[in-house]
Amino acid sequence: MIDEAGLPAHGLPAERVLAGIRALRSGDRPTHGGRLFAYVYDPAVPGLDELTAAAHAESAHVNGLDPTAFPSLLAMENALVGAAAQLLGGGPGTAAPDVVGSVTGGGTESLILAVKAARDAHPEITEPRIVMPVTAHAAFAKAGHYLRVAVDMVPVSAETLRPDPAAIAAAIRPETVLVVASAPGYAHGVIDPVTEIAAVAADAGVRCHVDACFGGWALPWLRRLGEPVPAFDFAVPGVTSISVDLHKYAYAPKGVSILLHRDPELRKPQYFVHADWPGYTMINPVIASTRSGGPIAAAYATLRHLGEEGYLRLAAVTRDAVRELADVVRATGGLRLVAEPESTVICFTATDPELDLFVLVDELAARGWHTQPQLAYAGLPRTVHLTVTASVAPVVAKFGGDLADAIAATRAAGPVKLPAELLTLARSLTPEGLTSDLVAGLAAGLGLGLGEAADAGSAEPVPDRMAVVNTMLEEVPAALQERLLMEFVGLLQRPTWSHD
Ligand SMILES: *Cc1c(COP(=O)(O)O)cnc(C)c1O
Repeated sequence: MIDEAGLPAHGLPAERVLAGIRALRSGDRPTHGGRLFAYVYDPAVPGLDELTAAAHAESAHVNGLDPTAFPSLLAMENALVGAAAQLLGGGPGTAAPDVVGSVTGGGTESLILAVKAARDAHPEITEPRIVMPVTAHAAFAKAGHYLRVAVDMVPVSAETLRPDPAAIAAAIRPETVLVVASAPGYAHGVIDPVTEIAAVAADAGVRCHVDACFGGWALPWLRRLGEPVPAFDFAVPGVTSISVDLHKYAYAPKGVSILLHRDPELRKPQYFVHADWPGYTMINPVIASTRSGGPIAAAYATLRHLGEEGYLRLAAVTRDAVRELADVVRATGGLRLVAEPESTVICFTATDPELDLFVLVDELAARGWHTQPQLAYAGLPRTVHLTVTASVAPVVAKFGGDLADAIAATRAAGPVKLPAELLTLARSLTPEGLTSDLVAGLAAGLGLGLGEAADAGSAEPVPDRMAVVNTMLEEVPAALQERLLMEFVGLLQRPTWSHD
């Protein structure tokens, strides 16, 4: 642990400052090398980091607040929106010639704005609601929470992981302002029946948003390569908006997503405009007002450098890696793919109760592979998620060998058994009855050095082995999970005090 003051009494030389950041970064999971199957999207293209860093630096101080003051940013945003729209079935000569859009700071922001636009299109509906499959991204729940829009969740089939469009239709009420489909859902990588869902939404006169944050920049290339990608974009009647994250499969640095609407009328209620104060007139298409041009310029540079040819090549490499990984999982006794991969996700579950997936995730991490554990939920099993990018292709064989070793170690260790007193404690907790003492006791019982971490130099805040924590979380109801996670992370997020 490094103890670096945020504001030293005397300024430090640039080299010393950068060395400090690099030292901090060395404790992070690797963003390159294909060993981190979540959070980062790495095309492994030489020189791309340098290009995007330079592009970011060019525009870092440019402010997206006012497109008339900084036309460079407006031009780059319009180019990004045009590229996304054309990739997703819109633009001149298509069924959606009037598509418009906005550049946002991320997928969550795009989804919040899609919900806001749908809500504000109906000022007469005082208690607005949205309808979505349970597999829709948690960001919709966040949007509902922020915007006071109720969320009606429709279950998915345990076999197909898809919702029944008839159940979506049945969930639509007079107050429903938006219906959601995912292409694909993040958790399992399964594409919802978008055509059917958009049709029931259109029949009810309700907007339909396709969350293609994950797949929007991957599926079109896979389709061009001949993969059987179902219709999910503006070619589908009834689809009124689509989100696509450029900081995922467009391989841009973090901080860029796009929200598209089929026509300008649909976008209007997305804006916030305010003239009723003595300052400048505020006209915001997105949540942030002052916005850095850095991420936008970096995304623009990425698209122009890779081009269609580059994305097609990267998609082919990724598709091959997905196929090989799927074969590895199929060949591994005790594991089962929860769905045949139809995008760029591998998601598997255990068929053998003696094979504890949370232990397996820890064993893989001990071998340098970072996969994402997903808790059992509403009849759906505990799973492991792998986001696959082009950088994974060269290391699939190595992963296969290490997976076999990790499986052997997992079987040898056996499933996690929570200590009886921890289980009793966890089951006695209620969200309302949580005190700091109880949380601290639980954190200590779980081996989490939370809180001590605030005094830099002491214990690692999070243990290498998370299986016990995940098992405990799975034991308690969602509302308590949420409270516990908030308390744990709140203990991590404490100020560092300067000692000099
Ligand atoms: C990543 C993702 C989001 C949220 O995007 P952020 O950029 O993390 O805010 C929403 N929906 C899907 C399907 C995603 O994969």
